Amino acid sequence: MKHRNPVETMANTRHEFGEHGGVNMSVEASTTFTVLKSGTMPEIFHGEKGPDQGGCYLYGRHFNPTVYNLGKQLAALEGTEAAYCTSSGMAAISATLMQLCDMNDHIVSSNAVYGGTYALLHDLLPAKTGISTSLVDITDLKAVEAAITDRTRVIYTESVANPTLRLADIPALSKIARHHGIKLVVDNTFGPLMLSPRELGADIVVHSMTKFISGSSDHISGAICADGDFIQQLMDLHTGMLMILGPTMDPQVAFNISLRLPHLPLRMAEHGRRTQIFAERLKAMGMAVTYPGLPEHPDHNLFSKLHCADYGYGGILTLDMGTEAVANELLDMLQNDYHFGYVAVSLGYFDTLMSCSGSSTSSEMTDQDKAAAHISPGLVRMSIGYTGTLEQRWQQLTEALSRTPVINEKRIA
Ligand code: PLP
Repeated sequence: MKHRNPVETMANTRHEFGEHGGVNMSVEASTTFTVLKSGTMPEIFHGEKGPDQGGCYLYGRHFNPTVYNLGKQLAALEGTEAAYCTSSGMAAISATLMQLCDMNDHIVSSNAVYGGTYALLHDLLPAKTGISTSLVDITDLKAVEAAITDRTRVIYTESVANPTLRLADIPALSKIARHHGIKLVVDNTFGPLMLSPRELGADIVVHSMTKFISGSSDHISGAICADGDFIQQLMDLHTGMLMILGPTMDPQVAFNISLRLPHLPLRMAEHGRRTQIFAERLKAMGMAVTYPGLPEHPDHNLFSKLHCADYGYGGILTLDMGTEAVANELLDMLQNDYHFGYVAVSLGYFDTLMSCSGSSTSSEMTDQDKAAAHISPGLVRMSIGYTGTLEQRWQQLTEALSRTPVINEKRIA
């Protein structure tokens, strides 16, 4: 089955020109907006007028034209009716879940999620709101079904899990969610363009745009892509999680990100191409490499069925180095001796970023939950960049690997 290429929808979205006919949209730096007649103000407050009804703006935490326009581009990217941009990926995730759940409701979530999301589900929400979460292996559909209770409002998953790189079967999860009358929320941070969760059946798609979408590791940012009704709920003057909690995106940030979207397809394709080649070569060396583009990956066939092939299988691979000590030794060599990339959390940067997940971006998880999600202490996550030549980077990587001790009983030549 051929899946939508979001580039086509994005290209069909009306381009917003700048105030003086500039090819780029203008940055609207105002936090507050005038009305020509004071009688218009209550109409905006009551939702009778707004950005799409008369081009009316009120206040920047509500809607700002630059941020609103970026939202339209994100909606085009994900094929949703609407989208709203937030100050971070965590803001998008927490606002979405708190909007969908009331006190003491329940969430069924993948047990392999970013550490901050885990902390939200495992620690913050139960303590502050009584919202509880059952963490399950999201690839085990029977376990997902069994965990649903009459208080469950949401199935939550990452499209491609951080850091295990397991793929959620979004169409199957969507069927379960529909059957129970609950929402499927998918974090598509690892898979922009490659996977279109809405097309596959998700109700709401969230992003950390800090990663691939921004691509330069310079802006913390997020997005919620959903039906117009849900975005309106988030903006409700009394109970809207975005309107009241206020994790708004700055217009300058929105403008900068809007300049990165046109080359996101080129970047994703090159991240994917290089990562595929590295993964195949590492596999041939006998390394414990995980990458969805390898036929041995447990979700390779499903991935091949669900993705838009133009962008491959993503820009992230993992390498299990056995122990944290060996992993750290490799990371230090790669950064300091060979200049292969940087030892840093985050991903989607133009240079390679590497970290040992268990002791960094998954360190919020209990040892038991890390083991259940198969996050081993020596697991190195690499977000493969596209600077330098591929062969130059490969040489740097193999030279560092040749200096590491025995890995999984295989000596690196
Ligand atoms: N979702 C995923 C999959 C992530 O990896 C991260 C951060 O690493 C987040 C969400 C949170 O994003 P942000 O740091 O923009 O709040």
